[in-house]
Amino acid sequence: MSDNVRDTVILGSGCAGLTAAIYTGRANLNPLVLEGHEPGGQLSITTLVENFPGWPDGIQGPQLTENMRLQASRFGAEVRLGHLVAADLSKRPFRLNVGKEIIHTRTLIIATGASARWLGLASEQALIGHGVSSCATCDGFFFSGKEIAVVGGGDSAMEEALFLTRFASRVTLIHRREQFRASHIMLERAKAHEKIHFLSNTTVEEVLGVEQKEVSGLRLRNSVTGEESILKVSAMFLGIGHEPNAKMFAGMLDLDQDGYVVTRDQVFTRVPGVFACGDVQDRRYRQAVTAAGSGCMAALEVEKYLEEHGR
Ligand code: NAP
Repeated sequence: MSDNVRDTVILGSGCAGLTAAIYTGRANLNPLVLEGHEPGGQLSITTLVENFPGWPDGIQGPQLTENMRLQASRFGAEVRLGHLVAADLSKRPFRLNVGKEIIHTRTLIIATGASARWLGLASEQALIGHGVSSCATCDGFFFSGKEIAVVGGGDSAMEEALFLTRFASRVTLIHRREQFRASHIMLERAKAHEKIHFLSNTTVEEVLGVEQKEVSGLRLRNSVTGEESILKVSAMFLGIGHEPNAKMFAGMLDLDQDGYVVTRDQVFTRVPGVFACGDVQDRRYRQAVTAAGSGCMAALEVEKYLEEHGR
């Protein structure tokens, strides 16, 4: 940093943002990482992560992000809380309004992630990580031989239900309507599976097991008849979609119809010097390791950009 202008600012402190911080830190760019409303990203609400390479016995999600944060700090990254209120990406250096503070930066890495949609029930929120999950790939394994439920009627729900048949003895797919958003092929595949049972026109009213800190069942309501019932399950997986955290960039960057940042060559946005990585631009893989990989790519592109355009 030769003046008050930062070389790079990273928005988001999940896997993508912190990996970008490790790389830009090691490149002596003194990155500033601004943590938003979910410090540590989605991993911070996960329990055991068993598929991140290098941890043969698995590692707790919050511990994994804490390790990344320490690693980034070791190379000079400054990590602090900060909410982006407004940004001007129309001229360089870019201007960021973070609370009452104005920050100027030559490059920007957007790693703000996507937040899983939740039903919003108090019992659901209390049992996240104790049988309530929004990630079948992360947590399905823990319910081997158990009966579980998946909520949703789109492709994500079908995909989660099909994936979970590898572990569960029975999967009940709960959808609030009669019609499904899922593609024909995914729906048919799920319907044809002997372990998957469908409950449509059904909403989850309560997740049972808050006192025991372990999901034991769901209280359901049929939206047509009004009838209430109890479904005994050991886990509830949400497959009701994700919301990319990119609304603040509408009009400045290209966003697709669902609000994800559109990138080319993995991490380039339409504004030179602004890169996006991780779940805010990835609706397909959404894994910790892929987010970390794209954080690395964004950091390498920042280095290259600064070499070409000067610091
Ligand atoms: P989606 O298509 O928007 O479906 C979300 C589902 O969740 C809908 O059925 C919706 O019900 C339900 N839902 C939303 N909020 C709810 C709530 N509060 N309570 C109960 N149910 C709720 O989302 P998605 O399945 O994540 O898919 C997003 C995009 O990614 C789609 O374009 C999809 O095709 C794509 N995708 C593709 C694949 C694949 O091809 N392998 C896999 C995953 C996702 P309603 O229908 O009643 O609104």
